[in-house]
Amino acid sequence: MRPTGRLHLGHYTGALENWIEQQNLLQPDGTRAYETCFLIADYHNLTTSLDTGSIYENSLDMLVDWLAAGVDPEKSPVFRQSQVKEHAELFLIFAMLITTSRLERNPTLKEQVRDLNMDSLVYGHLGYPVLQAADILLYKGNVVPVGEDQIPHVEITREIARKFNTHYPHPILGEVFPEPAPKITKFSRLVGLDGKAKMSKSLGNTILLGDTPEEIWGKMRNAVTDTQKVRRNDPGRPEVCLVFSYHQKFSSEEELASIEEGCRSGSLGCVDCKKMCAANISEELAPMLEKRRYYEEHPDMVRQILHDGEAKARLIARETMSEVRQAMHLGEAII
Ligand code: AMP
Repeated sequence: MRPTGRLHLGHYTGALENWIEQQNLLQPDGTRAYETCFLIADYHNLTTSLDTGSIYENSLDMLVDWLAAGVDPEKSPVFRQSQVKEHAELFLIFAMLITTSRLERNPTLKEQVRDLNMDSLVYGHLGYPVLQAADILLYKGNVVPVGEDQIPHVEITREIARKFNTHYPHPILGEVFPEPAPKITKFSRLVGLDGKAKMSKSLGNTILLGDTPEEIWGKMRNAVTDTQKVRRNDPGRPEVCLVFSYHQKFSSEEELASIEEGCRSGSLGCVDCKKMCAANISEELAPMLEKRRYYEEHPDMVRQILHDGEAKARLIARETMSEVRQAMHLGEAII
């Protein structure tokens, strides 16, 4: 994740919740199903903003959200891309394994250009998925729990891994890299409060994980609903309603059925429906708010967690880069 400051619900439903599930998943024999690593992609921020003044604070803020949501640093090293120099090194090599036309076809990039009204693109932004491939493959990631927008990037990562493995077989390992698969959630594209595009900080249509119940209600009351439901008793269409899509995630099966019936028949007004939705979101976020407060009160602990995670990540990254160099005959021959 890029450290764009505090996280929103889309980050949670699309990625973070899934991360934590993978982190805690056990096999039948009681051992962990995955080893998990979580990256603060601070270099990636530069693709859309050159302003790095608050990048460290934003990274810590994001880390606090991760910890509050359940990321356990004992199980999962957390680290910044910029503090493990092997990311840049592997990116350079990978940049030789993919064409610019392949990167120009990336649908996520096209969407970003459209949503942010960008009239030109920096070179590094075009290469964003190549850096992401390095981020994933340095740790030999097999599974990448991401939102829908990132699926094309995981596909590019697979292509790069395949190309590297074919061109540079390792004398002992054979293939250096796995071909990772994306793992998406049911809510891998949460729409923002404006109902137009995915929830995104740069579009200002978010509910933040750190928002209080009052803040959540304040935002929810202005959310767009079915535009054909003008008066309270007009029948509505849940399938086109943004608020109903949130209910699908945050409300119980029973509530959902009664909301759907009430909306269609016109017996449930949008204000009441939104109140219920805001309350259910607040309830789900309540334990995180409490944990968030704890970490905010212990900033030294958060900094130490990051420091320790970076030390662990460096060891893994160094080992992979040494295999890459061996496979490429860069450096000393292996006997
Ligand atoms: P980013 O902030 O773009 O680095 O995104 C971090 C992670 O959150 C990625 O896996 C995204 O796919 C996911 N994500 C961001 N926004 C949303 C959203 N609105 N709905 C679902 N997933 C999202």
